[in-house]
Amino acid sequence: MREYLICIDSDGCAIDSMDIKHKKCFGPCMIKEWGLEQWQDDILNRWNEINLYSSTRGINRFIALERILSEADKKYTAIHGLDAFSKWCREANALSNDELKKMVYTNQIFLKALSWSEAVNAKIEEISNEICPFKEVEAALKYIHQKADVAIVSSANPKAVDDEWTRFGLMKYVDFVMAQDKGSKKECITKLLAMGYKKEKTLMIGDALGDEKAAKSNNISFYPIVTGKENESWKAFYTEVFDAFAEGRFPVEYQEKVLAEFHNAFGI
Ligand SMILES: [Mg+2]
Repeated sequence: MREYLICIDSDGCAIDSMDIKHKKCFGPCMIKEWGLEQWQDDILNRWNEINLYSSTRGINRFIALERILSEADKKYTAIHGLDAFSKWCREANALSNDELKKMVYTNQIFLKALSWSEAVNAKIEEISNEICPFKEVEAALKYIHQKADVAIVSSANPKAVDDEWTRFGLMKYVDFVMAQDKGSKKECITKLLAMGYKKEKTLMIGDALGDEKAAKSNNISFYPIVTGKENESWKAFYTEVFDAFAEGRFPVEYQEKVLAEFHNAFGI
């Protein structure tokens, strides 16, 4: 175990996969599962807004599903079982396919949500050759891993994360994989810290506000990968920021500057 730990989100941060997964997999599979074709342009726009272009970018798939189904229920057509699904989203131990499977006999909506989630996973496998890491990521991982342990902290399903990082030869730089099955990002970081890493020597890299929040609630540093400027962000991390951090100085002014740019990208 090394002294430093760098936690890295996967989708949209290390892997250039967010747009394609949402536009070709999550959204269209949801329209199909709930038969919402009649309103699909508006609903898909809202799906992309929630998952790609606003402060909720990167949220768990089931939370996003609950939001979009609630909107559809109010605006277009009754969604049966929505209350039960909303309750599950608030109360389940982990929002994952495995947890969903425990609920399928209680209400049909759980079966539909599971069927959607599995269809999404299958579709992601189908389009997997269109997904690749941002080009500066491997150089960054190689550099970071000389001095720090690396953990993937992701709300995606563990198989997709494992498949992608393995396929791109990035797994050799990774010490821990903490995906959807291990809890929320906040909980994953808490679990990693419990292994003995010091908070001041742990940093989270992410592309969404949820990543920043997960880092802040664990009192660790956060470094943003800015949407649309991903390669610049990665390059700056391994050529400037990481050494500063590892030497115990990650200048406050620098942190403020990158965070302001990150928040601007979401219009906040
Ligand atoms: Mg992300």
